Amino acid sequence: MPYLNTIPVQSRVAMLNRLDTGKNPQDILRPALSMLSGKMALVSSFGADSVVLLHMVAQIAPDTPVLFIDTQMLFRATVSYQKQVVEVLGLTDVRRILPDPGEIFLGDTEGLLHQADTDTCCALRKVAPLQRALEPFDAWITGRKQHQSTTRADMATWEDDGAARLKLNPLAQWSKADVAAYFDHHNLPRHPLSEKGYPSIGCAPCTFSVTPDLDDRAGRWAGKAKTECGIHFSPKAYKQSGSK
Ligand code: SF4
Repeated sequence: MPYLNTIPVQSRVAMLNRLDTGKNPQDILRPALSMLSGKMALVSSFGADSVVLLHMVAQIAPDTPVLFIDTQMLFRATVSYQKQVVEVLGLTDVRRILPDPGEIFLGDTEGLLHQADTDTCCALRKVAPLQRALEPFDAWITGRKQHQSTTRADMATWEDDGAARLKLNPLAQWSKADVAAYFDHHNLPRHPLSEKGYPSIGCAPCTFSVTPDLDDRAGRWAGKAKTECGIHFSPKAYKQSGSK
């Protein structure tokens, strides 16, 4: 439906949310991946729950571009798990997104920027690389869920990413139990850290284990006010927040 591109993103978001809210993730993904074939990418951290959405997408369209943001600060376990998952699921277009070497040389030569300024470190290693990688796409898919934290509790199925792209969160309304049941039903491989108290897994220096009574994302930047790396802020909001 090419005419859809002539409708403003916010209007498309409202229309798609009316159509899709409350549907099964697969029933949302199937028409979306067909309608936006080649123009929609899945962004994945290959973290604790990532394989659920990767599996759904692999079942529908294994050639969907998958953008894996490798900040070069990931756990070694994530890097080896990523290779395992790609092989098991048969994904054919996984793109490793790296920071710009020149920007890292100038901004984080020692690899210690995360100790002094997490926002700038995330901007260099995650936000800017993803913004560049998303340029050819009209839409992207994320695995975010409302239950993960209070800051995600109101998240809609479809969002405007603030850069004229659609953002789809097909698992937005899934609970922890839904995710666990899907893992069991499809016998999916688990991230080695997920059973060691890491329900959300990002970069090694900024991810800590948590006790079961806390939000899944409580171990991310634990002890700091920061709750998001910035890739889910609109570029405009990210700039206004004072981050680079
Ligand atoms: Fe840097 Fe930590 Fe952000 Fe990773 S999560 S990019 S190490 S501040």
